[in-house]
Amino acid sequence: MEKTKILLDEDEMPRKWYNVQADLPTPLDPPLDLGTGEPVGPEALAPIFPMELIKQEVSQEKWIPIPEEVLDIYRLWRPTPLYRALRLEKALKTPAKIYYNWEGVSPPGSHKPNTAVAQAYYNMKEGVERIATETGAGQWGSALSFGTCLFGLECMVYMVKISYEQKPYRKVMIETWGANVLPSPTNTTNAGRQILERDPECTGSLGIAISEAIEDAATHENTKYALGSVLNHVLLHQTIQGLECKKQFELIDQYPDVIYGCVGGGSNFAGLFLPFMGDKLRGEKPDLQITSCEPMACPTLTKGLYTYDSGDVAMLTPLIKMYTLGHDFVPPPIHAGGLRYHGDAPILCKLTHDGFMDAVAYHQTEVFKAAITFAQAEGIIVAPETAHCVKAVIDEALRCKETGEEKVILFANSGHGHFDLAAYDAYHNGKLVDYEYPVELIKQSLAKVPKIE
Ligand SMILES: *Cc1c(COP(=O)(O)O)cnc(C)c1O
Repeated sequence: MEKTKILLDEDEMPRKWYNVQADLPTPLDPPLDLGTGEPVGPEALAPIFPMELIKQEVSQEKWIPIPEEVLDIYRLWRPTPLYRALRLEKALKTPAKIYYNWEGVSPPGSHKPNTAVAQAYYNMKEGVERIATETGAGQWGSALSFGTCLFGLECMVYMVKISYEQKPYRKVMIETWGANVLPSPTNTTNAGRQILERDPECTGSLGIAISEAIEDAATHENTKYALGSVLNHVLLHQTIQGLECKKQFELIDQYPDVIYGCVGGGSNFAGLFLPFMGDKLRGEKPDLQITSCEPMACPTLTKGLYTYDSGDVAMLTPLIKMYTLGHDFVPPPIHAGGLRYHGDAPILCKLTHDGFMDAVAYHQTEVFKAAITFAQAEGIIVAPETAHCVKAVIDEALRCKETGEEKVILFANSGHGHFDLAAYDAYHNGKLVDYEYPVELIKQSLAKVPKIE
């Protein structure tokens, strides 16, 4: 009988993270200083990040040991199960084999604590007492509050206003783990006040909330900043997913032909695919297909420009080389709040630009339709973010039905949608609208990208 869940024992959990930088054919383009256009050194990041994370950001070591204290906390929910979606296969009548890595079993309900716990740990080790951060859909804010709570740190969360209003339960979770949370833009930072002067009704964006959190960290004693996606060290911590998954595939003597994941900043998907991508980069799996799934309303990889841009609207971050829609891009208020960032992780962007992976974009109604097909077959109600790759998986499985191919499909099931039921409700009542971000507006926003080359 085919197994539904492929499980690892706790003592089989990987003890090192995988750093893809060691396997990249050409190095990442360095972050640049906005003023001078010169590469920024580690010292420039020291005011906002602990030293160990700065080292990980630029490390070329292939394997980085996971501290014992972090492993101890990971054990609360890891190793996570690899599922075979037998019932979905049956419902679609596809010869494809569909697998998913299920990160919804963590206490906050997504992949995000894989890095939140690690980041809280390194901050605690270096004597930091308080962390400021931003959150989009509330997933990162809840994950970081969980991590800081377990290591005894204070936490201040700037939550994108649209989500603060649409997802009050994430705010309650953040408070339950002992953190503070404000709807962004706030009038407590210069960055927030400037936005509110221009647009008092502003529903917020991740770019704005990042500006507020960085300003908070820079202006408070013993406070650092934490980012839940995009950066190299975040992707590094997330590789625990793909490393477990590779072991699980070895147990059943399989290997994926194609891997799908949704991309907001790119961390959940990269965490799953990077260990497999390593095989591809080393020439061992040349045919492996890896595809990012994003919303039409925030089409960073499919319609953005590959160039240097700022990570936030106030341009407080260094310039990073990535696909971007422009740092002052404010995406329409779609329900996948976690996919509304104007840029993406430099590692994922470089791999896309260099042709090792590709990207597709979907409308939110077709995405929710796919999520409901999935829920009715497999039971799990996925997050609206995750639903983007569920759509891609179902399409691929239906293509396999046409061609008779028995492809092995793997996708990153990044979290549950229990706090996104209002969005499901809107879908059920035909109230969900599709937005395709107008190319004209993307052009306007991209015109403001700093000129570097
Ligand atoms: C935050 C989030 C995402 C998007 O962020 P990435 O950094 O791209 O992973 C995707 N799925 C879930 C469930 C999330 O919480």
